[in-house]
Amino acid sequence: MKKVIGISVIALLSLTISCKDNKQEEQKDVMHNEMGNHETVYACPMHPEITGKEGDKCSKCGMDLEAVKGHDHSEMNQEDGHDHSNSESTEREITQSNNKNGETAAILNAYFEIKNGLVTDSKENTAKGGTALLAAFSKFDMTKVPENAHKEYMEIQESANEHAAHIVKSPIDHQREHFEALSTDITDLIALLGTVKVIYQDYCPMANNNKGANWLSEVKEIKNPYFGSKMLTCGSVKKKIN
Ligand SMILES: [Zn+2]
Ligand SMILES: [Zn+2]
Repeated sequence: MKKVIGISVIALLSLTISCKDNKQEEQKDVMHNEMGNHETVYACPMHPEITGKEGDKCSKCGMDLEAVKGHDHSEMNQEDGHDHSNSESTEREITQSNNKNGETAAILNAYFEIKNGLVTDSKENTAKGGTALLAAFSKFDMTKVPENAHKEYMEIQESANEHAAHIVKSPIDHQREHFEALSTDITDLIALLGTVKVIYQDYCPMANNNKGANWLSEVKEIKNPYFGSKMLTCGSVKKKIN
């Protein structure tokens, strides 16, 4: 009986959550459900304190509430807190590499294509950048990554590919949500491996519902990908790399 409930919850989850379609997370859900203490809670992806039931909208921003994992009251909680629907950014500790690495150029160029698509409010160009990023990662030569950076590289690649895949198929608001997390991945990748390019790390305090968000740019001038034409020059340069 427990299994039947578990399966129906999974079916429901896969129907309702667009962001949680990666296998690892589904597997986690399966494990969780088999322990028999899963309850589905719906919360705003941007305002986790706003919760409700399936189909509800956030009272603050109007976004559809998304399913999040129920609070686990058992001692068996094995969750590692990597809930894509709840918090999109992963914290990694990487110190900035000063390597003049040409290998990361294709990845950066594809990222900038996404960024510039958002700057010009073009869902299509943003999606093209997403496709280019998936291609750049698939062509990336892993043998050029130093042994001690393999693990971090693989984590970043997996996360960035997931964001790119969503960027390819989503409306522009959702593209912007994934761009924020993708920017963290690409910033970490450049910190890890270095680049030959001169790039800028920019910051907009109003992005991500006033929580602030970073992005990388190939030009010094501020062109805001989170707001596009609505607030094109909002933000500032935080750091210059190279
Ligand atoms: Zn998504
Ligand atoms: Zn909200």
